[in-house]
Amino acid sequence: MKPESHLFYQTRSRRPVLAEARGVYMWDVDGKRYLDGSSGAMVSNIGHSNPRVLDAMRRQMEKSTFGYRLHFETEPSELLAAKVASLSPAGMEKVFFVSGGSEAVESAIKLARQYAVTVGQSSRWKVISRDPSYHGSTLGALALTGYAPLSDPFAPMMQAMPKIPAPRAYLDGLDINDPATGAYYAAMLEAKILEEGADSVLAFIVEPIGGASTGALVPPAGYMQAVREICDRYGVLLIHDEVMSGGGRTGKFMGAEHFGAEPDIIAISKGFGAGYAPLGAMIAHDRLIDPVLDAGGFLHGHTYAGNPLACAAGLAVLEEIEAGDLMKNASRMGGLLKARLQNLMQRFSFIGDVRGEGLLLAFELVSDRQTMQPLPKALNAYNELVELAYAEGLIIYSRRTRGGLEGDHFLVCPPMIITEGQVNEIIDMLTNALDKFAASAGLAVETA
Ligand code: PLP
Repeated sequence: MKPESHLFYQTRSRRPVLAEARGVYMWDVDGKRYLDGSSGAMVSNIGHSNPRVLDAMRRQMEKSTFGYRLHFETEPSELLAAKVASLSPAGMEKVFFVSGGSEAVESAIKLARQYAVTVGQSSRWKVISRDPSYHGSTLGALALTGYAPLSDPFAPMMQAMPKIPAPRAYLDGLDINDPATGAYYAAMLEAKILEEGADSVLAFIVEPIGGASTGALVPPAGYMQAVREICDRYGVLLIHDEVMSGGGRTGKFMGAEHFGAEPDIIAISKGFGAGYAPLGAMIAHDRLIDPVLDAGGFLHGHTYAGNPLACAAGLAVLEEIEAGDLMKNASRMGGLLKARLQNLMQRFSFIGDVRGEGLLLAFELVSDRQTMQPLPKALNAYNELVELAYAEGLIIYSRRTRGGLEGDHFLVCPPMIITEGQVNEIIDMLTNALDKFAASAGLAVETA
């Protein structure tokens, strides 16, 4: 029996105690090995215990671990900001560090609002987002999140924000490669702006490639460009939430690079600090920053933001991605892993969809591939399959697909250092887990 834990997270369930983590593997104190097939919560992009990053952090620790940003400039934060600006779209030269994704999103919407007030557009305050979506757990970011079970209890405490449907073409029976599909979903944004009154709409926030709530949703052809055009037409700012899709795991530094669309503000975190330090950033276009700075500065900030230790870690993570050509590996191994996941559809007729880009991949379970009806809720597939995989030694990440209410999808997002042999290991363990799940749920398996 383990001693009582004084930690309190979502539930009372306990997990094994972590002993050690290296590369794509983690070991518990009983010596059991796990392949980190979801990089934690899509965080550990370059794998665990990377020597270059640990060394950079040790070196920084010997110099200083904290220098408050109102008292000192620090070399790691300056170098990291310059590096991030160089990896961002032209004109997005200024970076505001934070310690996580929710903080990055809060910073983005507050900067958008302060900019609007500064340039005489204080009637604009509504931030349109999509449903389903996930933008964070703090009240501002949660108001943008389209995932009812997480937000409903807190609704009276938040300012309700308008939502439009996420472009889930696979559920609506539409062709993701047809530009008409992109135009169809983008038109929902225009309709919502007009319904709300364009003068009241401040921004639209979108995950360029979906995260946990949609399961790696890739937008249909033309969607991201159409959204940009609509925002421009109505003077609405465009925020890309790249907290999960940014940082390189899709094969490009920003997920939106796959679609050639440029935002006004970007939020990043997760793989940016890659699990070495709590780190995130909000990056904004100069045309927003300059008026705000001229008017006296951004009325926002968090104590630990931009601390030199987190920034030294972040800088070393980016150096490691470049030195190891890891974005290329993410593309190559992502292509391989996606093809292997698609192969599993032959054996398991209850896999309804495989989607994603690079190593931001997901598969969704359904009871009928034609109608895309979800599995019966009572099967609790989103939980059961994760536990069966965990018992095999494979970590994957799941959510309820249909806005948190029913349906089951699973993110398979190993670190960007993954090898072909390790991709095979993932598929072997996943096949075993799916076999066991099918047997317990009474679902047919095609073994021919
Ligand atoms: N935005 C997106 C797209 C995310 O995936 C997440 C976390 O899952 C967040 C924001 C919030 O990040 P954090 O949990 O670090 O606050």
